[in-house]
Amino acid sequence: MSERLHYQKLFIDPLRTDLIPYQQAAHIEDSMFTELLHTLSSEISAERAYDHVLALSRFHRIQASPGYRRAAEYCIDHLLEDSGDARLIHYPAERGASFWHFPSFDEWSIKQAVLKIISPPELAAKLADFNDCAISVIQRSKATPPHGIAAEVIDGGDGRTEKDFKRARGKIALCDAWRASHVYEAAASAGVSGIILYKQRHLPGVRFGSGVYGARQYNSFWWDENELFGFVLTPEDGDRLANHLRSQRRPVKAWALVESETYPGTLEVVTSLIAGREDREVLVIAHLCHPKPSADDNASGVAALLEIHKVLSNLIERQILPQPRFGIRFLLVPEITGTFAYLSREHSARQRLVTGLNLDMVGQRQDVTGSTLCIEAPPMASGGFIHYLIEHAARKVLSHKGDTGLSSDLLSVRMQTTSFSGGSDHYVLSDPLVGVPTAMLIQWPDLFYHTSADTPDKVSPEMLRSIGLIGAAVIYTLARADENDLKLCADIVGQALRRDAVDKMAEFAQSDAPMWVSLEFEAGLLLEYGRKVLMGLGSLHPRSKSLQRRIRDQMRAYTKCVKAEAEVCDVASLSASMRKRAHDRIKEQADHVVRRLIPGPVYPEHALRRTTGRRRSRYNRWRKREAKADLIWILSLFWADGERSIADISRVVAAEIGETNPDLVRLCFEISADAGLVEFVKRRG
Ligand SMILES: [Zn+2]
Repeated sequence: MSERLHYQKLFIDPLRTDLIPYQQAAHIEDSMFTELLHTLSSEISAERAYDHVLALSRFHRIQASPGYRRAAEYCIDHLLEDSGDARLIHYPAERGASFWHFPSFDEWSIKQAVLKIISPPELAAKLADFNDCAISVIQRSKATPPHGIAAEVIDGGDGRTEKDFKRARGKIALCDAWRASHVYEAAASAGVSGIILYKQRHLPGVRFGSGVYGARQYNSFWWDENELFGFVLTPEDGDRLANHLRSQRRPVKAWALVESETYPGTLEVVTSLIAGREDREVLVIAHLCHPKPSADDNASGVAALLEIHKVLSNLIERQILPQPRFGIRFLLVPEITGTFAYLSREHSARQRLVTGLNLDMVGQRQDVTGSTLCIEAPPMASGGFIHYLIEHAARKVLSHKGDTGLSSDLLSVRMQTTSFSGGSDHYVLSDPLVGVPTAMLIQWPDLFYHTSADTPDKVSPEMLRSIGLIGAAVIYTLARADENDLKLCADIVGQALRRDAVDKMAEFAQSDAPMWVSLEFEAGLLLEYGRKVLMGLGSLHPRSKSLQRRIRDQMRAYTKCVKAEAEVCDVASLSASMRKRAHDRIKEQADHVVRRLIPGPVYPEHALRRTTGRRRSRYNRWRKREAKADLIWILSLFWADGERSIADISRVVAAEIGETNPDLVRLCFEISADAGLVEFVKRRG
């Protein structure tokens, strides 16, 4: 078979008009976004949003700290300019408290932190000072005695094992590492008094070698890692010190002072509501935390949210836009912790939420940061639809206007829709047990991510404005939930779903998934997914007969598309013995059914602290060979509905992300059971 024929056989055109009874299948007439964007664009301000980035990047806004609280108060002041509803909610930041299964932790504050090399004279210099650069101390560092300590600096290798800290008791260890948690356990048990780190995380595609010149990697101790203080150097300073230590000339002595405090305190969620006529709400969320300056991560997301709030509040107040049916809820949180806190403590508020948009790192100057604007979909188990509308609005906002000399529209930024990967607040909301399918807008990867060089000059005011426009248009459209708009949304979502199904099946065919599941299984999952997506949209106006009809038509078209694609899709042939081996391994898990005991997704670092040492090391070995281990764990829990066996869950995970492993999935559930998140139950019947 020739390449060309094969290609034709593999794909059907998802926009084929005979699949859908509407003329507009290929060109959806969406005057709703065009008009709304026109109204919004005369109000939304790039400069005002950028001014928030400048202001917010001056707060040292570590989760549960006085600096975070001051940043929260800044946001409240601005939200109150436009609506009387904005308020701070305080949750306990103290050991022993928890939000569902997510543990709270003590508040931490810092006044000063200085590291100086005092001898030999040729090295003597101040290498770190919190008041010059807030990222030069490892966050949540323990205090030194009030007058500081003078100690020898030793070479701590990569700091992974106790061998690296021979005769290091009471000394300060320089470690060739970028993350404090890689070093903490071995260093603390060797009795080291402090650590110094100087490497940066590699980011494929943008950050290689020793990383960003002159910048320090943001580092923090975990909440239960409270035995050490630590500093972060630039790679240049760290290399110079390491070379000296390795050449074993004269010993190096340093003086370190950390004035910090850990105590029971509070963590704050900022909330504001633009009231709707009904009590359901759509959500915009951004995390407010992170060290000073952290401009793109995430002063940019907060700035875009404040601008969306201002513009929509004012347009509704002036009756230029009608009051929406659903309220629009705005949340600013300490990342993940605050979302767990709000959702677990505000039960009725959670029930009101319909869908959400998470703004995390949205303002990048792409030419400087190397990033791509990603529209991250909610996980398939949650069946969210909002990312399809975001994508549609983003194409309208970010296309070059006017004659580019080419026949196609061009996007003015790099942009891509990506499947769920988690890692921010939307992963908590999108848990099916929480029930708020939420998409994320994020620019990734970013050369300056989590370094002291994530400064406001890496943020584009124009990008903030575009993100504000996209977010405001989609959120307001969904909140208004007008019957005709929703019908157009159903067309947009239906068309995008068909395109997505064809892409997903092609990805499936080229992945390792066919080893575990058949093409029919993949098609079945896609149908279940599409039904959930369209029903979710239909639930915004259940009494509208014409919307429900439109949803049914879209479902029929989608079903036809998936079935037609399944008929022509070619899956690479696998040897019979390979298939049999995979089949036998998955079958071993067929009798084990798991039921979730508590809402909220698994947070692997926490669950691993609540299992046996053996299971923890087994899982850490998995992590080394399976880059998606954490994602497989999170998704597996999402699919655990009390009916599916571990074998079934392994299969759906394979169909969703193209890879799985029943042994890994089994281990994840065992650890989840140790952590109190799930229980194993007998299969019924
Ligand atoms: Zn972030």
